Amino acid sequence: MVMRTSYRYFTCPNGHEGSEITKENDQPYSAMWESTSLNGMKENAKDSRGYPTYTCEICREPMEVEVRWRNNKKPKYLQNSASGN
Ligand SMILES: [Zn+2]
Repeated sequence: MVMRTSYRYFTCPNGHEGSEITKENDQPYSAMWESTSLNGMKENAKDSRGYPTYTCEICREPMEVEVRWRNNKKPKYLQNSASGN
C-alpha cells in the first residue's frame, strides 16, 4: 500500500492556525481514494477555480494558505497581530 500524505497550513486574519492533512492512496490497482482531515477550520464553498476554501472554526474568518507568504513577507494584518490576543 502506497500512501502519500500532504500537509497544508493556514492562518486566519486573527492569527488562528489551521491545517489540512490529505492522505492519498497511490496504489495503481486499487480504487483511488483520498481522505482529508481538517484541524481548526471548516470547509466552505469552493472558489472560482473549484478549490475548497476554509473558514476559521474560532472566528469564522476565511483562512489563508500559509505557503503563500512563507517565502515572502507576511501580509500586514499578520504583522499587526504578531503580539497575539
Ligand atoms: Zn480565526
